[in-house]
Amino acid sequence: MAVTAAPVEKFAERYIAANPRSRDYFERAAQALTGGTTRTTTFFDPYPPCIDHGAGSATWDLDGNRRTDFLNNYTSLILGHAHPAVVEATTRAMELGSAFAAPTEYELRLANLIKARVASVERVRLTNSGTEATMFAMRMARAITGRSMIAKFEAGYHGTHDYAAASVSSGIPDEVKALMLDLPYNDIEGTEQRLERYKDRVAAVIIEPVQGSGGVIPADKAFLERLRELTSAWGMLLIFDEVISLRISPGGAQEYYGVSPDLTTMGKIIGGGYPVAAVGGREEVMAAMDQRRGTGFVPHGGTFNGNPVGAAAGIATLERLTPDVYERLNVLGERVRMGLGDLFERRGVPATVTGIGSLFNIHATREVVRDNRAVQRGDARFLKALMLGLMNEGYWLAPRGMGCISTPMDESTVDGLVAASERVIDQMEA
Ligand code: PMP
Repeated sequence: MAVTAAPVEKFAERYIAANPRSRDYFERAAQALTGGTTRTTTFFDPYPPCIDHGAGSATWDLDGNRRTDFLNNYTSLILGHAHPAVVEATTRAMELGSAFAAPTEYELRLANLIKARVASVERVRLTNSGTEATMFAMRMARAITGRSMIAKFEAGYHGTHDYAAASVSSGIPDEVKALMLDLPYNDIEGTEQRLERYKDRVAAVIIEPVQGSGGVIPADKAFLERLRELTSAWGMLLIFDEVISLRISPGGAQEYYGVSPDLTTMGKIIGGGYPVAAVGGREEVMAAMDQRRGTGFVPHGGTFNGNPVGAAAGIATLERLTPDVYERLNVLGERVRMGLGDLFERRGVPATVTGIGSLFNIHATREVVRDNRAVQRGDARFLKALMLGLMNEGYWLAPRGMGCISTPMDESTVDGLVAASERVIDQMEA
């Protein structure tokens, strides 16, 4: 099949014909919300579906289209939509009042659940987003080391604050950009060489042990181990951004790899679908945020920090995520990776699947994908057609090909995605 002929326009026409109410919504939205959305990542061409509701593994849009949701709000809904336990827990919490200028038992319960799972986390602070978590992790590292540079990896995503978005957003001062160092992912020699040059200036290295938005690319174990050695030797903090990777096992990627960071940022699943995230780490590192120290600490205000409704959702979710649940999710993740991989092979389609645990990503390339550079060399047009074709077939993945498993899914859900992908390939060849 000539992939350059991927029928994006034909699939877009079909999409538009089946989604008139979402189109109308989008046109109205564009008159009030810049770009018709309130979140850059949810837009795709021609326009995203406007959701009416979600339940379990599916969503329904304004036109009544049902889609099996493999996107799960970018991996955060591990129990699927409107899980009864989460609905009950949040309803109860809401009835008790939405937020207070004082702690509630909820935030401590959530903190203890996180502590009990993530081995390197002895103390936690709850934030409202992964963005805040990485921002405070970087700030603590700077406060502790007295150094100002932060190293991150190419295509690593850590949210939207200035330091995290320095290489992708306009409006960020050159002075800020100059404090960020980009390292090559999964390339230990390249990383070591570059980091050594700045070894007296770098406060922390932040890494996603499984790159999420870069393409669901797991780091090599030896790469993470060496990174741990180098950062320790050079007096830098190692921050694991586990906002997505906490999904792969109860103790996150650090448990899976057996590598222990100084600080960990978490989000998505720990909020059970609500805006709750966290930064945590060893006691002496997290002490940087302890207000009882008086001077020299990192203040952490936030009107909604640890709000009881979000914390209740997180508690209800984590309590349900027992080791056997992770095991089941991961088996289904493997099934989807194998199923799609075999399909692409059998049909001679130039696509491959990466992932780990319950996470996967389709890439429009035949290359072995070990970093985002390989992803970038893929056929963007083919990927776009495949994702749009799947939307038309009732399957929802991220426009960049990412998906994940939620607990309401089973073998038939996964096999349904593989079968739908084959139908889309048929349509591409027709
Ligand atoms: N870090 C990682 C690894 C993420 O994937 C994300 C969000 N996708 C963030 C940080 C930022 O989290 P939030 O969107 O909650 O600000």
